[in-house]
Parts: sequence; C-alpha cells; structure tokens
Amino acid sequence: MSLIEITEVRKSFGTTEVLKGINLDVEAGEVIAIIGKSGSGKSTLLRCINGLETITDGSISVAGAQLLDDEVHLKALRLKVGMIFQQFNLFPHLTVGGNVMLSQTVVKKTPKTEAEATARKMLERVGLGHRFDAYPNELSGGQQQRVAIARALAMHPSALLCDEITSALDPELVAEVLAVVRELAAEGMTLLMVTHEMKFARDVCSRVVFMHHGRVHEVGVPEEVFTNPQTAELKQFLGVS
Ligand code: ADP
Ligand code: MG
Repeated sequence: MSLIEITEVRKSFGTTEVLKGINLDVEAGEVIAIIGKSGSGKSTLLRCINGLETITDGSISVAGAQLLDDEVHLKALRLKVGMIFQQFNLFPHLTVGGNVMLSQTVVKKTPKTEAEATARKMLERVGLGHRFDAYPNELSGGQQQRVAIARALAMHPSALLCDEITSALDPELVAEVLAVVRELAAEGMTLLMVTHEMKFARDVCSRVVFMHHGRVHEVGVPEEVFTNPQTAELKQFLGVS
C-alpha cells in the first residue's frame, strides 16, 4: 500500500473539467516534483489531496484511509497532510511562536505547554528558534515561509504538499527555503511539490510528474524526464527540441 493513492481522479468546476483522470501513487518518503504550465491543474490536484477541494470522481486515500467528503474525514485528512502555499498566510497579529502554536491548540486541542514546546522544536528545525517572539512583519519573506513550514510540521503530518512555495520570494531568499525542504527530504518526509525550480527537482526529487491539460502526461525519475522527455508537450515545456 502506498502512502497516497490517487486513482482516476476527476475534478470539474461547473462544466469545466480540470482534472481528467489522475492516477498517481506516492510511497512514504518519496519526494515528487509536479511541473507543468500554468492552468494544467497542479494546484487543484494538491488541493484535492488535502481536501480543500472535493473531487468529482475517482478516489484518493492517504495512509489507507479513503478521502470521503464529510467533515470528520476531512479534518482527519488535513491533520495527516500539511500544505504550504505561495503566500505564507501567517497571522500578522500573532508572534511567530503564536502562529506555529495556533493550529495545534485550536485544531488538535494540544495543551498550550506542549504546543509551545513543539513550536520551539519546529522553529529550531527551520533555523528560526531565536525568532519565537518576533512578529511576521519583522521577518524576511524567506523567514516567513520557513515559519509556515514549521507551522505545518508542528501538526506532525505524514506528507507535506508544497504549492510553488518559493514563487513569491525575492531570488536571494529562495535558497534558504529550498535548503529547509532539502533537509526534510533527507530526513524522509514525503513531499509533493509544485515547483519551477528545475535544478532543485533534479537534485532532490525521486520522481517528476509533468501535468498537461489536467492529466499526468509524463512521469519518471528526474534523469529520464529532464534529459529524455518523450512527448512533444514536455519537450516544449522544457524548451528542448
Ligand atoms: P495550475 O496550478 O497548474 O496553474 P490550477 O489547478 O490552479 O492550475 O487550475 C487549473 C484550471 O482550473 C485553470 O483553468 C483554472 O482557471 C481552473 N480553476 C482552478 N480553481 C478554480 C475554481 N475554484 N473555480 C473555477 N475554475 C478553477
Ligand atoms: Mg497553481
């Protein structure tokens, strides 16, 4: 059994079908890069995996539990699968520590002392243990994104979904965030990341999924996908011919 099993998943918005039968199994500890043009369905796929969107057809299971469309299951699912977005979405009126504690105390009902200990540990892990009492606007974009990663880690997820998490950052801040992701990958975290960082995908990912028009158009190890693309669409996307 794979950690995440995506079978014949379809998703429509009104009459527009944006996911057209996605099949993808993700093993525990795998690091998968999802690449593809804007509008190909990458974000929608991630949003379906953690239940932010309900699927129109097919099935998704995480750690053996099928994603069913009811609140109890969705809540359980979101505890298992963390998601990090392009925008960091930190609460500006809460400290860094407060941000990392919040979903633990609210969603998981973790006692405050325990939530604080976990928050300190996770902030340490992303290199921001010393900024526990700072406010988000006192941090750089790269630091804020690392806080968002710590916040997701504090829920002890089995997998992390990252949707273009470095796209909103100034170029000089991208590396520090990728370094954290690289470390998580080395520690065995299961990661699905939508990214434009091809070099990173090549270095760190075990597989690359190329999405095109709502389908997994090509999938393989980075070496294959980047040096020997099979389809005209992937060749065009990569700018090779
Ligand atoms: P990507 O992340 O690859 O750029 P998205 O998953 O964001 O692609 O979008 C895929 C398609 O679905 C796009 O055509 C987009 O306009 C459409 N779409 C995404 N979210 C919605 C929504 N909530 N309502 C209607 N259409 C949507
Ligand atoms: Mg997107």
